[in-house]
Amino acid sequence: AKRLRLDKWLSHSGQGSRKEVRDLCRQGRVLVNGEICRDGAQLVETGVDRVQVDRQPVCYEEFYYIMLHKPRGVISATTDAVCRTVLDFLPPSCRTGGVFPVGRLDKDTTGLLLLTNDGVWAHRILSPKKHCHKVYEATVSGNIPEDLTVRFASRIVLADGTVCLPARALHTDGQTVEITVYEGRYHQVKRMCAAVGLQVLSLHRRKIGALGLDPALSPGQWRKLTEVERELPF
Ligand code: URA
Repeated sequence: AKRLRLDKWLSHSGQGSRKEVRDLCRQGRVLVNGEICRDGAQLVETGVDRVQVDRQPVCYEEFYYIMLHKPRGVISATTDAVCRTVLDFLPPSCRTGGVFPVGRLDKDTTGLLLLTNDGVWAHRILSPKKHCHKVYEATVSGNIPEDLTVRFASRIVLADGTVCLPARALHTDGQTVEITVYEGRYHQVKRMCAAVGLQVLSLHRRKIGALGLDPALSPGQWRKLTEVERELPF
């Protein structure tokens, strides 16, 4: 059990910003254990107190685990002065709840992006020791080498001398290549492709570990992960 302020409970649970939920309290729409509570500063306890808004139960969620189909042209940051960020696609409660993207996709990359406010979970996914693999689909220009798979499986050396971990590359059809990497370096896929003479025209992330992007999500759409899905990246 955890004790926290009623306004925090409400805003974390998607009922609006701190100011909006304080207004809900003042309007007498919030019940704690069946009694009207007008004070957002009141302490409530998870697993003990019952909170309702307009007579509907509001469960406290401490952590958010979200998959977003990241669209093109959006940056993987929490704030930016100019550009839209991936957080602009989520409800305001995520912003107040401290949600951040787990790693980054380039501005022009689309596909599976995870977001959370659980630093431990994010760290487990990003930790180089875990080698969570990521599967990308790249559309490339240039001649796809005959020995593409062998070259990715041996250690590709990037232009700056960085030696990559063995990776998988499969020429699926036309100018499309499926690439699986076991680490997350800056522009990793684009730089690996460049090392074998290919330019990436578009890049889409399909999977992180065994967790795939839900095909029902169009670009810009998101949903919460189930408890089972939360363990699939590892
Ligand atoms: N590799 C890249 O080059 N870009 C991405 O966005 C992800 C992996």
